[in-house]
Amino acid sequence: MRSSSRQLDVAIVGSGPAGLSAALSLKQAGLEVAVVSRDWPQSWSAADGYDLRVVALAPDAVALLSHLQVWDTILQARAQPVLGMCIEEADSATRLCFDAAESGEPALAWIVELGLLADKLARAWVERGGVVHDGAAVSELAAGEDHAVLHLDNGDRVRAKLVVAADGAGSPLRVAAGIGVEQRDYQQRAIVAAVTTAQPHQQLARQRFLPGGPLAFLPLVDGRSSIVWSTASAHAEQLLGLDDAGFCRALGSVSSGMLGEILASSPRAAFPLHMQLARRYQAPRLLLLGDAAHQVHPLAGQGLNLGLRDVRRLTEVLSWAALGELDLGASAVLRRYERPQRSENWLAAHAFDGLERWFAINEGPLAQIRRGGFEWIANSPLAKHWLLRRATG
Ligand SMILES: Cc1cc2nc3c(=O)[nH]c(=O)nc-3n(C[C@H](O)[C@H](O)[C@H](O)COP(=O)(O)OP(=O)(O)OC[C@H]3O[C@@H](n4cnc5c(N)ncnc54)[C@H](O)[C@@H]3O)c2cc1C
Repeated sequence: MRSSSRQLDVAIVGSGPAGLSAALSLKQAGLEVAVVSRDWPQSWSAADGYDLRVVALAPDAVALLSHLQVWDTILQARAQPVLGMCIEEADSATRLCFDAAESGEPALAWIVELGLLADKLARAWVERGGVVHDGAAVSELAAGEDHAVLHLDNGDRVRAKLVVAADGAGSPLRVAAGIGVEQRDYQQRAIVAAVTTAQPHQQLARQRFLPGGPLAFLPLVDGRSSIVWSTASAHAEQLLGLDDAGFCRALGSVSSGMLGEILASSPRAAFPLHMQLARRYQAPRLLLLGDAAHQVHPLAGQGLNLGLRDVRRLTEVLSWAALGELDLGASAVLRRYERPQRSENWLAAHAFDGLERWFAINEGPLAQIRRGGFEWIANSPLAKHWLLRRATG
């Protein structure tokens, strides 16, 4: 059994993109930090082909990664700017389009492979001398008067003033702390794949709201598009069972020629979709961050962007507390993070949930109102500007 006698400022549990960004950001702010990682990110290589999981990173997420000095290495490896975005409904000819030029940003978002992002964050952490307890999961968290002790299943002990749970949507730390969640099971799965299309994507992202759920095409550097097709679980099962040619035909028939014929598809993967919001973000000497605190429908491509906004706020709050020599794990300090983040994430999650419900109305007078509302937004510069500001952070 190894016990670390050194007391850290912060122990971060979870080496996903949110946990590693938090570790880098807090270390950069001068705090003593260690990461507890069950599965350290695998090394990424362009030669291994595209990671099926990609994320659209908003400009404020890119600004954080630049500040952490990892963005340039990501950009050099592979990242696709999104210069415009169009949204349409299956049952109307109206299109809601945004242009990067309107946002004052070089791109509305950047499409980055999740494996690439995690690898670059992990490398930066190690290169900067960051401490890692690798291959270890937490078996117990003992919160004391002035510090917490993490008991790891490899026998290690980690002492810190504050433990940050960045251990994903299933967050064992959140569950052990008895923090409940508000949850909605969408009974949908998101199918992801990289597809070759007859027409070029022109660096535009496209989203089509189908009766069963949204279908997104995100541009990739190699000219293909990454799709995220959210659909009822039983339908997703059928789609996963098709051979590549059958899948391309099925995709082509619902994408309404957005990018012409679907010529080829990579293997596919699917993810069950939930909205899940923690009812509290803190327990004694414990704080939730990223998907451990909030999981949202991917229709707006915002899940990790919200997690990176948590990172920014946490860094501000803990830097302020350290400057004032306050206890970093004190509940009053943690509230300065919890209050704004919980309300912002709650609002965002319910906005995406509302959109999902709204676009699922396919018949009757409400469907007419929906079409009218969509048309109004598409033709209203003010409404479009507001939406653009929200999406780009
Ligand atoms: C189909 C789909 C599309 C998406 N598209 C986008 C998008 O375009 N833009 C966007 O911003 N977001 C998107 N998201 C959301 C995004 O993928 C997630 O929000 C993000 O990956 C969550 O990161 P995280 O670090 O919080 O959690 P995770 O990536 O889940 O990391 C959690 C980490 O904790 C570790 N862990 C778990 N338990 C323990 C333990 N007991 N001890 C130690 N470690 C532990 C895990 O091994 C893992 O490394 C999408 C999601 C889906 C499903």
